[in-house]
Amino acid sequence: MTHSKPKIVAVDGPAGSGKSSICDEVSKRIGWTYINTGALYRGVGLLALSRGIDLNDSASLAAMVDEIAPGLAWRSDERSLWYKDRNLTLEMNSEQAGYAASKVAKQAAVRDCLLPVQRQLTLSAPKGSLVDGRDIGTVVFPDADLKVFVTASLEERSRRRMHQLGTDTEPQALEDIRKGIARRDERDQGRDTAPLKQASDAVVLDTSDLSMEESILALIRLLKERDLVG
Ligand code: C5P
Repeated sequence: MTHSKPKIVAVDGPAGSGKSSICDEVSKRIGWTYINTGALYRGVGLLALSRGIDLNDSASLAAMVDEIAPGLAWRSDERSLWYKDRNLTLEMNSEQAGYAASKVAKQAAVRDCLLPVQRQLTLSAPKGSLVDGRDIGTVVFPDADLKVFVTASLEERSRRRMHQLGTDTEPQALEDIRKGIARRDERDQGRDTAPLKQASDAVVLDTSDLSMEESILALIRLLKERDLVG
């Protein structure tokens, strides 16, 4: 019996654009698999921190990622990240993990090692996958069935992140978050290997003025337009 190739939707965009929340919910509604590739980079960043590895030390990071990659697992059904029997999900969502992820993600050795992990996870999905990240449409799956570039203004992304962290009452919080996101964008767009950029054939979804529900419906509409779902 031949199995048809699972459908792949690549969703890229800057930090805080809402892509993971959108993919999370859309995949539940259509019964597809959600692959959060940022989680894998966050896992590598967290393990490097816990081992006291300098996040700029490419040789040590390369050695570490080779060793840990087989034990690193994104479990789509639970939206959880594991390293062997250690659940990293709570730590994964911290600002510190996002920072560490964007530092280790600059290293070509780290990216090379995570590339087959992301492809294998995606291709083993029973129906189709929504895969979110920074280079999914440009590097990981340049032949994806649909590519979407989710974006939003820096102000809006910072407000959403602040809300998520529950720090709305702290006056300095918004400014600190805004600076952190801007720095992460700069690092992701400016790196030599697989920088964040919109694929030439990606559809842009600007969520600055959209509610979460409107953003979800907009992505489902794009999937329907391509006949990827009924
Ligand atoms: O998507 P998320 O914010 O969780 O990603 C954390 C960091 O991991 C990003 O800022 C980026 O540096 C890196 N990343 C990447 N390529 C991906 C996914 C994430 O470089 N496909």
